[in-house]
Amino acid sequence: MSFSQIGVVGLGIMGAGIVEVFARAGYQVVGVAESGPAVDAGKSNLAKSLARAVSKGKLSQEQSDEITARVSFGEDFELLADCDLVIEAAPEILSLKVEIFSKLDAAVKPSGILATNTSSLSVTEIANATTRPEKVIGMHFFNPAPVQKFVEVISTSHSDVQVVGKIVELGNSLGKHLAQISDQPGFIVNKLLLRYLNHAVQILDAGQATKEQMDAAMRELSGYPMGPCELLDLIGIDTCVEILKTIHADTKLEIDEPAAGMVSLVSAGAKGRKSGSGFYDYSERLDAPTDPNEAIKNQVHNDLLMAYLGDCIAMEATGYASKTDIDSGMKLGCGLPTGPFEVIESIGIEKVRAGQAELAQRTGIAAYQPLPF
Ligand code: NAD
Repeated sequence: MSFSQIGVVGLGIMGAGIVEVFARAGYQVVGVAESGPAVDAGKSNLAKSLARAVSKGKLSQEQSDEITARVSFGEDFELLADCDLVIEAAPEILSLKVEIFSKLDAAVKPSGILATNTSSLSVTEIANATTRPEKVIGMHFFNPAPVQKFVEVISTSHSDVQVVGKIVELGNSLGKHLAQISDQPGFIVNKLLLRYLNHAVQILDAGQATKEQMDAAMRELSGYPMGPCELLDLIGIDTCVEILKTIHADTKLEIDEPAAGMVSLVSAGAKGRKSGSGFYDYSERLDAPTDPNEAIKNQVHNDLLMAYLGDCIAMEATGYASKTDIDSGMKLGCGLPTGPFEVIESIGIEKVRAGQAELAQRTGIAAYQPLPF
């Protein structure tokens, strides 16, 4: 089982990025989307990303042309027939992914591996839509795919170990750091990240801070490359709401219910950068927001950090992922400067537990309580 031709279905933020990852690595790539305009948008996403790399001196024009020449585009799933691996990056809606996998199963040669880039949905349910569930896997890239070095490889109880091994080998050959995990809503990174982002919007909805204060707090006090509202806009608020719905259906916790502020933006068509506006308006170039109110920034930073570190401790305690995989995921998948367990080490676990307890007591939210050990 070797890989020469790679297919990608869905050519939005992630699909176009995944096309670029494989074309840069020398593979022939076929990109498919559901309509002519969607294909054109995908071509334009790829062209813009390559032009940015050329303008920054990271690629020569000749290399960019070679990468472009390795990619073909179209609307017909039959174009994917000879692909050794097809990665689906369509919207985060289970019924849509199930429909796509059933079509892929019919179109792609029987030896082809089918992967989903889903952020949270059940890979098992997606695999069940095919006649080859042993060759269906989660391959979860991070945004922007050509830049972020982390990939979660999600196997199900159906997965063939050889298929998993080949995907891990392939991922390593792309220079990515992989974590192999089982099928759980949100996997490692999104379970932690989306709860943090939702928490931020819940604080915003409660009027306790402005988006500028929140974003400045996380950038200035934790050194994050972006604040939560800026990151929601980058990921796509619609995608985040869908991921949270999946996580909430699993945990049933109020803190995982998509915050009203996100839901209303999506209803108004403000999905973030990809639609031109979200929490911020992208019709003009924005400076990173800042705010001089140190007291509010400190409070917001404390609350977001304590809740997030508590979630990381709880995830590791369940045995789902190791400290190393959690730290790598948050650093290499989200671009955070330090992993949560490195932060816990420097603050001290007892201080974190005290911070969690104080947050739980002040907000009356039991889910913020530290684990009982
Ligand atoms: P997006 O909205 O930017 O792109 C979705 C793409 O799918 C578009 O090209 C659209 O035209 C296409 N599409 C829609 N219906 C289709 C169909 N029936 N057949 C083929 N293509 C179809 O979304 P995105 O942010 O790129 O997310 C795609 C997937 O990647 C989701 O599962 C998401 O959870 C996951 N993901 C997103 C991020 C992120 O930061 N945005 C990160 C990691 C994973």
